[in-house]
Amino acid sequence: MQIVNVFGGERIPLSYEIFPPKGELPMEEARNVVAELAKLDPAFVSVTYSAGGGGNNERTSEIAQMGQDTFNLNMMAHLTCMGATREDIAASIALLKERGVQNVLALRGDPIPGKDVCDFKYAKDLIPTLREAGFCVGAAAYPEGHAACLDLDEDVRHLKEKQDAGAQFFVTQLFFDNRFAYKFLDKCRAARIRVPITFGIMPFMSKAQVSRMIFMCGASLPSPLVKVLARWEHDPDGLRKAGIEYACQQLIGLAEHGVDGVHLYSMNKPDVAREIATAVRPYL
Ligand code: FAD
Repeated sequence: MQIVNVFGGERIPLSYEIFPPKGELPMEEARNVVAELAKLDPAFVSVTYSAGGGGNNERTSEIAQMGQDTFNLNMMAHLTCMGATREDIAASIALLKERGVQNVLALRGDPIPGKDVCDFKYAKDLIPTLREAGFCVGAAAYPEGHAACLDLDEDVRHLKEKQDAGAQFFVTQLFFDNRFAYKFLDKCRAARIRVPITFGIMPFMSKAQVSRMIFMCGASLPSPLVKVLARWEHDPDGLRKAGIEYACQQLIGLAEHGVDGVHLYSMNKPDVAREIATAVRPYL
């Protein structure tokens, strides 16, 4: 199914993101994760793409195909264009088509050292090519602004350009303070961004993980989260429980705010996803 059709129904769609196993790890691991997520009746499952030499970009389409064919799920393959030529993208499209993938998240990707050649400067330049190839196309959104863009209004203008280029829905970057999401939503609506926006939440499992996310994504650290981290820092089980509870509160708040969708960065941890899905399902 085209993912754009999961929005606008009676319930708020809950989707999940997984990342492909690295290197020589067998597909079996991905299959187990997808099998467990399938039990949660996901609106869709998205699979990340590594263009930076992680060696797993072929796995993205393979996992998307496996989720569709084996578990009858709506799957979405991420695809980045940074460092790619038109020929590279044509080859990726051909592979996705061959594997029957219908949904693609069009991304620019992060700069790759030594790979300056790029026929697509921004995600908005990739989107029309993917639409022309017949995919249902989503793109990335940043409630606190993209890390390289210091002006949120400008970032929202670029988001509108992605909609105008053909993006049919947006999936957001993670954030730990819902107030950013609500303000962002207001800005998007004022900028005539009309396509569905699904908000991404990542349950934290460690202080180190939160620090990484702050530096990688530019996510703000709200004081309630600082207090939770300080309280459970030396108790892994307590922190895991607190991380799940914090994510549930964020998701319930978003649902009560009436967002189009919620997306869980489930980090290949289906047990965590299951606990969260069970807790938030009545609110969606
Ligand atoms: P773009 O939309 O092209 O924007 C990039 C920057 O350029 C922004 O600062 C934007 O404001 C600016 N910009 C856009 N248009 C213009 C313009 N016309 N003029 C001037 N500036 C402009 N990375 C991966 O490698 N693999 C993944 O699987 C992956 N999945 C992701 C999933 C989600 C939901 C999100 C939110 C991010 C994901 N990323 C992934 C990270 C993403 O690749 C990086 O954040 C990347 O730096 C930006 O990609 P983008 O598609 O948002 O870029």
